[in-house]
Amino acid sequence: MRDVVEIPARCVCGNPLVAATAPRLGNGTPFPTTFYLTHPVITSAVSRLEAAGVMNEMNEQLAGDEELRAAYRSAHEAYLAARAAIGERSGIGAVPEIDGISAGGMPTRVKCLHVLVGHSLAAGPGVNPLGDQALAAVSEWWTADRCYCDGAWDTSGEVPAKDLSRHGPQGLPDIVGRPAPVRKSSGTAEAAK
Ligand SMILES: [Zn+2]
Repeated sequence: MRDVVEIPARCVCGNPLVAATAPRLGNGTPFPTTFYLTHPVITSAVSRLEAAGVMNEMNEQLAGDEELRAAYRSAHEAYLAARAAIGERSGIGAVPEIDGISAGGMPTRVKCLHVLVGHSLAAGPGVNPLGDQALAAVSEWWTADRCYCDGAWDTSGEVPAKDLSRHGPQGLPDIVGRPAPVRKSSGTAEAAK
């Protein structure tokens, strides 16, 4: 992966669960989406939720719940603050082009659960209510207290024929033209998009 500056969440065994991307890529492109799921088991579990229509349910929840809307807006602010802190730590500094732009549909919509779950894993529980909700919903397939890495990264198998993360650059606005480094095994498929 290129432009990964930190690993904000790890499996109990130490393998990365989430990679943090620099807010400005090496080629100068401003990059609003910071937290990427790196674990195939979590990524595909979250894709199942999306396929089951969970994003629509969450958008309906948001429409009908003022408290949730406020908490989700706070998650957006937390995302921006975390990204700014990563920019500082990595020596990149401020990236004014993406001021106020987070990811995943925040602060008012849900457009990518991978983004929200990545944020929740990086920030810990209680920061992103819908990311936390999605994490709870994948507990049938993945939980934080166990290692699911055995066989998860199939380094000898075929490269997937399609991008299993479903979105390529997770929830990315149109200002970035280059696919994000989600997983090395999907790089070919994403580049072909
Ligand atoms: Zn593990």
